[in-house]
Amino acid sequence: MDDIVREGHPALREITKPVPMPLSQEDRDSLHCMLQFLKNSQDEELAEKYKLRSGVGLSANQVGLNKRMFVMYTSDEQGRLHEYALVNPKIVSHSVSMIYLPESEGCLSVDRPIQGFVPRYESVKVKAYDLCKEQAVLLKFKGYTSIVIQHEMDHLDGIMFYDRINQENPFKLPPNVPIRSLYSSREE
Ligand code: ZN
Repeated sequence: MDDIVREGHPALREITKPVPMPLSQEDRDSLHCMLQFLKNSQDEELAEKYKLRSGVGLSANQVGLNKRMFVMYTSDEQGRLHEYALVNPKIVSHSVSMIYLPESEGCLSVDRPIQGFVPRYESVKVKAYDLCKEQAVLLKFKGYTSIVIQHEMDHLDGIMFYDRINQENPFKLPPNVPIRSLYSSREE
């Protein structure tokens, strides 16, 4: 159940290839499998039994597939469930304002603790094909889910979350940009 490649593996540094549409049965199966993995990783009993780390997103290259697709399974700040299997996603627009997780980000491909702020757009609009809906979608994300989506989109371009942390001072934020911690309402 745990075929996730870890940092150092070249698959994580590849710019992944567009997925041919309509989706092949093989690609459908891969996405369903990846989504099931995320759900299992959030199930306390299964996670304990199979020693799974809980994840909210997983990209195809994290399981060694060079394809522009990923899955996401998590709740937003309002408790709404976000379940997607997105193929060939594109960010079509984003906010100027940015946010970051004060506890930094986590990644199923990274086993060591990493500290530092990862600046992300506060909101993004994403165009993609969603296998869960079996149709092309235009999705809007704000806050936590916007962070998750950008983390996964980065994977498809071979970018790891810590690439976006300031090298000299991991807690330094980009200047001249409205940016706040996800959990605070005021700008910092
Ligand atoms: Zn990741």
